[in-house]
Amino acid sequence: MHVEEILRSMRAGEPQSAEAISAFVAGVVDQTISRPQAAAWLAWAFARGLDDTETVALTRAMTASGRVLRWPSGSTCIDKHSTGGVGDKVSLPLAPIWAALGLRVPMISGRGLGHTGGTLDKLEAIPGYRTDLSEAEMGRQLDTVGCFITGQTGEVAPADRVLYALRNETSTVESIPLIVASILSKKLAEGVEELVLDVKCGSGAFMADRDRARALAQALVRVATGAGVHCIALLTAMDRPLGVTVGNALEVRESIECLRGEGPKALRDLTIALARHEDAARAIDSGAALDKFRAMIEAQGGDPRVVDDPSRLLGSGTKTRVVEATRDGVVRKIDAYGIGRAAFVLGAGRRRAEDPVDFGVGLEVHAELGSSVVRGQPLVTVHHREGHALDEALALIDGALKIAEPGPAPSALVLETIEAT
Ligand code: URA
Repeated sequence: MHVEEILRSMRAGEPQSAEAISAFVAGVVDQTISRPQAAAWLAWAFARGLDDTETVALTRAMTASGRVLRWPSGSTCIDKHSTGGVGDKVSLPLAPIWAALGLRVPMISGRGLGHTGGTLDKLEAIPGYRTDLSEAEMGRQLDTVGCFITGQTGEVAPADRVLYALRNETSTVESIPLIVASILSKKLAEGVEELVLDVKCGSGAFMADRDRARALAQALVRVATGAGVHCIALLTAMDRPLGVTVGNALEVRESIECLRGEGPKALRDLTIALARHEDAARAIDSGAALDKFRAMIEAQGGDPRVVDDPSRLLGSGTKTRVVEATRDGVVRKIDAYGIGRAAFVLGAGRRRAEDPVDFGVGLEVHAELGSSVVRGQPLVTVHHREGHALDEALALIDGALKIAEPGPAPSALVLETIEAT
C-alpha cells in the first residue's frame, strides 16, 4: 500500500486494515515513509483514535518490527509492567517470588526519567550487576535461575523508538491506543504468555486522573488479550509513594527487607497482590524468593553479599537530615509527586536519558498516611550528597506533607482489578 493512500484513508476516518497498519510500521522503520508522513499518521491516530482491532494490529506490527524472544517450552513465562511511580520497586521482589514459585520471568525493564525511578537504575546500585544480558545469557538464566531483569536491547520493537520520539515532538503522547501499542509491543517481544499490569493513578503517576488510568488499564487488558497474552491489570494508588524509600540503593535495601519478610506492609501487600498466586506469601516467608534474588544477582555478575550486607550497595557516603513534625496531628498527605521531585533534585533521578544517577541519595519516608504523629517525631530522613540541592529538597518535602486534624481514611492501595471480559 502506498503511504499517500494510507494517509488519505486515515484522514477520511476509514477503518485501517492490519495490512495497512503493518505497511505503515514497516515503512517507518525502513524509512520509506518520511518523518513528516509518520507524524501526520500519528496526528490522525491521535485525533480520530484507533479501535481495539486496529490497536492490536499496531501492537503486533510494532512487536514484529524487531527481535521477538522465544523460549523453549516449559513453565509459564510471565512478566509485570508498571506505568511507573515514586518508590515503585515491586519488580525487584516480584521476579524472584515468581521464580521461586516455578514460573519463568524474562523481565526487560527501563531506566527512570524525571520524578519516577527505573528498575535498572535501582539494580545497578548492586556492584557489578549487569543490565545488558545477551539473548543467550537470558535463555541460560531463565533455565538456571528462572528469572532475569535486564535492559532492552536495541533490537526490541525499533518502531516504538521512532514513533515515541515523534510523539514527543508532535504532542501526541497522550493517546490511549498509542500508549497501549507502545507498552505492549515491548512486552510482547519478551515472549511472555502472561502479563500483570500495575496501572497507577495519582499525583506521582503517568496518568494522575483515575478515570483516564482506568480507561488505559481496560484498553491494555483488551488489547493484550486480543494479541494472545493472558492479562490482568490492577489500578493502584500513586497519590503517595510506595513503601518507605525513594532512591536507588535505598529501594534495593527495602526490596531485600521485603524478601526477608520485613519492611513496610504496603510493599509486601502490593507485591503479593501483583503476584496473583496463592503461595506468594509463602515464597517470601520460606526464604525461597530471597534465595532466588541472590541467585539472580550472582548470575548477572552482581555482588550477592549485598543481600546480607546492604552497606555494600553503591552510593555510600551520603549525609542525612531528618525532617520532623512541626505539630501534633494526623498525616493527611504525602504527595507522591512532591516526594519524587525531592529525590530527583537530590540526584536520584535524571533529566535526560543520558544523565547519570546518584545511587546513594534519596528519602526514607517514615510518616505513614493516616497515622497520628506528635511534634518532633521524625517524618522523613533525607540522604543527600554534601548538601547538594538540600534546601530545594526540603522545600519540596515541606510542600508534600500535610499534618492536620483527623479526616477521612486514606484510600486502599489496590483500587480496582481489571480482568479480560
Ligand atoms: N510508556 C511507554 O512505554 N510508552 C508510552 O507511550 C507511554 C508510557
